[in-house]
Amino acid sequence: MARGAQIKFAVEDSWLRNEYITKRRRNSDLCAELGCSMPTLLRILKRTGIEPRDDRNAAVHHGRRVRFDLEKAAKLYVDNEWNAERIGELLGVNASTILRRLRESGVMIRHHNDTKRGKPNHRRIDLDPQLVALEYAKQDADIKSLMAMFGVTKSIIRRAFDAAGVETKKRDRDGAKNPNWRPDLTAEERALRRDSAKQTKWRIQVYERDGYKCQRCGDAQGGNLNAHHVEAHCQNTKDRNDPDNGITLCVECHRGFHRAYGLRGFGRKQLAEWLENYRTKNAA
Ligand SMILES: [Zn+2]
Repeated sequence: MARGAQIKFAVEDSWLRNEYITKRRRNSDLCAELGCSMPTLLRILKRTGIEPRDDRNAAVHHGRRVRFDLEKAAKLYVDNEWNAERIGELLGVNASTILRRLRESGVMIRHHNDTKRGKPNHRRIDLDPQLVALEYAKQDADIKSLMAMFGVTKSIIRRAFDAAGVETKKRDRDGAKNPNWRPDLTAEERALRRDSAKQTKWRIQVYERDGYKCQRCGDAQGGNLNAHHVEAHCQNTKDRNDPDNGITLCVECHRGFHRAYGLRGFGRKQLAEWLENYRTKNAA
């Protein structure tokens, strides 16, 4: 269409008023009938003295709104705390319409959780807790098998458990049932590994407490530290993994201690004496 060329629509005022105001037909609907664009329609409406509606989101269905007792709906919603679905069922209107119209008339809409919380939900499936407990007690029964048996979700099974006070079965993951189980190891090797894991943890705890520094000479070189057992390792099995029974020494000092006190029969007293000797010798 050439610029400036405007189609003059011969639209009768009374017809337009009837269609637009009385029948509440949509803008787009009228555009289609008149074969004009939206701006043109708006111009025609203005010219006719009709205030155009913005009906992009308006609730206009087939030219008229659904009629129902809005006051009653509001009363049920606010005073009786019914939800929109229940009101809709009573009044023969769908729930979204109820909610929209309540919102339009200024009613505060509750979040659906507020409506459902703590109140029975008519859609909720409740299983007989005793029956569920009985099935669960059977050997090999687990939550999955119950879900399949009753055709419900896990949360419904869990709710039945809660009602019947059922304790869920602990899956046995010890030893060979653990996915990390190594079948190639012997019992002795397993004991050693268990021990070495504990000892690694103990060593790190001792180093950290002592700031990764030899507690005798102050050497803090990386890679030359040992964690020494204050009470001889072979004699004190009880405190073997207690960080209080450890001290950080450098390799040299550690060797020195064992040269002086041997490999067994030493303890806290000997360590204190040995450290004190070093201090007095270096102070002199
Ligand atoms: Zn040292």
